Amino acid sequence: MSGGDMAKPLLGHRSVEGDPSVVPTSGRTIGVLGSGDFARSLAIRLVCSGFKVVVGSRNPKRKAGLFPSAAEVTFQAEAVKKTDVIFVAVFREHYSTLCDLADVLAGKILVDVSNNTEINHHKESNAEYLASLFPACTVVKGFNVVSAWTLQSGARDGNKQVLICSNNQEAKHTVAEIAQVMGFTPVDMGGMSSAREIENVPLRLLPAWKIPIFLALGLFSCFFTYNLVRQVIHPFIREQKNKFYKIPVEVVNTTLPCVAYVMLSLVYLPGVLAACSQLYYGTKYRRFPDWLDQWLQHRKQIGLLSFFCAALHAVYSLCLPMRRSHRYQLIETAVKQAMEKKMNIWVEEEVWRMEIYISVGIIALGLLSLLAITSLPSIANSLNWREFSFIQSTLGFIALVISTLHTLTYGWSRAFDENQYKFYLPPTYTLTLLVPCTVILAKVIFILPCIRQRLLRIRRGWEKGRYVKFVLPSATGEYASGETSSNV
Ligand code: NAP
Repeated sequence: MSGGDMAKPLLGHRSVEGDPSVVPTSGRTIGVLGSGDFARSLAIRLVCSGFKVVVGSRNPKRKAGLFPSAAEVTFQAEAVKKTDVIFVAVFREHYSTLCDLADVLAGKILVDVSNNTEINHHKESNAEYLASLFPACTVVKGFNVVSAWTLQSGARDGNKQVLICSNNQEAKHTVAEIAQVMGFTPVDMGGMSSAREIENVPLRLLPAWKIPIFLALGLFSCFFTYNLVRQVIHPFIREQKNKFYKIPVEVVNTTLPCVAYVMLSLVYLPGVLAACSQLYYGTKYRRFPDWLDQWLQHRKQIGLLSFFCAALHAVYSLCLPMRRSHRYQLIETAVKQAMEKKMNIWVEEEVWRMEIYISVGIIALGLLSLLAITSLPSIANSLNWREFSFIQSTLGFIALVISTLHTLTYGWSRAFDENQYKFYLPPTYTLTLLVPCTVILAKVIFILPCIRQRLLRIRRGWEKGRYVKFVLPSATGEYASGETSSNV
């Protein structure tokens, strides 16, 4: 970005007038120590949010051109004198070089924005280390989970959270206000002992995705091997036919929908198991086993991976006719039929099967796309609980039913055809139907009024075997009271 560009604010000023939720902190002077990527983005964002910014650099002349003209760039000691809140946009290794500023920094708030390169890299967190170097200052950990890029573009994503912790409530509150005015959502993480946890957050690699990814890879490997045996190994062994060309597209394309379909059912299976557990124990206050808890928490990622596989399956399917093998096979069939003088090759049942199969497949993919889009935080936050639950729960279940129809129209009567049992292995689609059909059946059972009522009562706090007060009219017309079990 050129110096000229830097002078122009990237984001418009946020108006705080008339908005009671925004604290009018803007107008205050904020200091930034350092003139690197983070300092620059922070200064731009602060200026755009209405703050006065003073940047402290070891070499202000050289760095001034990189900052917006509204920000003052000066020597570190000068900058520190002009403000009470200073963001330390310097790496931990260089904290000690700031010790000369200890006197001017005394009594001020230092915001530690630093990150490490490894999880639990140092014995003490960077923020605690900074606090130990400057005991006369109040240190607040924050903004490290926000990248320099997000700082500049973040106003478009008002949901971005900034985790903050400090032992000083007032200082934490001041930094939280600044974050809010900048368009971020401050999250109070408690005292300084949380700094290490906050510093580890940006270093974690997809923690919520590990289990769903392993699950998807596991299912993919199993179905791929199964399909490989049926589609490639069987013709090679039994008929000496070379069908290895099928591996990159056909085998992958028969594997992907299996994974997508089973993964979709695995989104709804833990809900079914949770409901069974609640019905069995007659309470919602009993903790689910850890594995079920984990499973429930990973449903969103499992659903998104299911959508990913379904989308890939759609693309692969569209590309099937582009393959050379497909063209050769078409010509071969046409020649064969011409030689046999077969004129009418139209099979009405097959035509209808394909039409229905493709149509329900498209609808299922459409519904899965809707589920995926509405699971994004920015969209999910714009929906109320009922809307979110309708889309994710009701439409999600409908997507599972439609995917089942898609699978059934694909398989049609193949399950009853002896020739389809290669090495005695049933067609893949029959295996994929097991879990989804169990889920659908269980959901249908839960809709039965007697079970639905009981489940609803449990979810509203009713418990089996819990003693409750009752009041009954006596024979004399007076009311007798006592205690009984609520499940009587
Ligand atoms: P950077 O581009 O390398 O900037 C570091 C700045 O530190 C330098 O520009 C330098 O400014 C200053 N500094 C002060 N004393 C120094 C010394 N003795 N030796 C070298 N430099 C010294 O790094 P950055 O990416 O802006 O990151 C700064 C801090 O923000 C780090 O703690 C980082 O973990 C954190 N952070 C960065 C990001 C990001 O996206 N970049 C995101 C979250 C957190 P002067 O030469 O003007 O003094």
